[in-house]
Amino acid sequence: MSDLQRITASVTRPLHHLGRAAFRFVFPPSCPMCHRDVELDERDDRGRLIAPLLCDRCSTDMLPPSNRHCLRCGLPVGPLALNDGCPHCRSLKFRFRRVIRVGLYDDSLRTACIRAKSPTQFPLAAALANLVWLHERDELDAEQIDLVVPVPRHWTRQLAKPHHAAETISRVLAKRLGKPHGRGLLRKIKWTPDQSDLTAANRKLNLKDAFAVRPRPRSLVGKTVLLVDDILTTGTTANECTRALLHAGVAKVIVAVIAVVPPNSR
Ligand SMILES: [Zn+2]
Ligand SMILES: [Zn+2]
Repeated sequence: MSDLQRITASVTRPLHHLGRAAFRFVFPPSCPMCHRDVELDERDDRGRLIAPLLCDRCSTDMLPPSNRHCLRCGLPVGPLALNDGCPHCRSLKFRFRRVIRVGLYDDSLRTACIRAKSPTQFPLAAALANLVWLHERDELDAEQIDLVVPVPRHWTRQLAKPHHAAETISRVLAKRLGKPHGRGLLRKIKWTPDQSDLTAANRKLNLKDAFAVRPRPRSLVGKTVLLVDDILTTGTTANECTRALLHAGVAKVIVAVIAVVPPNSR
């Protein structure tokens, strides 16, 4: 080792440790849901430790007892499910190809999703993103994603509340997949009232022409995009975002969310 290498190492090694210490400070090795200690022993394809993580008890609570679900809408289905949708979604015109999710917006997964929206709870949003990746890793890999894009908010909402769970989740998923994170690529160009106050028909009308890809990079043409949100309710928002992405030349959109709202809770 040359003198220069020795000096560089003596400076960078403490910085590296400092970086790890800072990381442990931001993402302490405790469950962001219940604060029990968590052993960080999962690594991604590039050998990087996955953090933050939920503890085994919280993960088990949130994962569905059976992972048999409709690939198109993410709702649980019986053993005779077909690939072209289930009774809940077969009549719906989804532009996205399929939904990848942890489970239903119910019980502890619902509590976690609500809590993850809070500005102080971004470690929980990140842990939920890691849960999606750990639980649905094979499905995500199989889709050969090129780019990860969050469902955007109008700039006025962004200004009022900088923490956006969908953005944290998509950033973490992009990191896990080793793909670019297209923050700001898809934009919400129209201010709209909250979807939760509207009927299904009005939701669609409310979001008409609300999203756009501006400017439209040629590099998007023919790509597969992972569109990320925290929850999927009727699929209207994801559908309108998909419309804008396809209009910009994207070949295929896959939706990834933490939870899908069951029809009786919509
Ligand atoms: Zn826990
Ligand atoms: Zn379905």
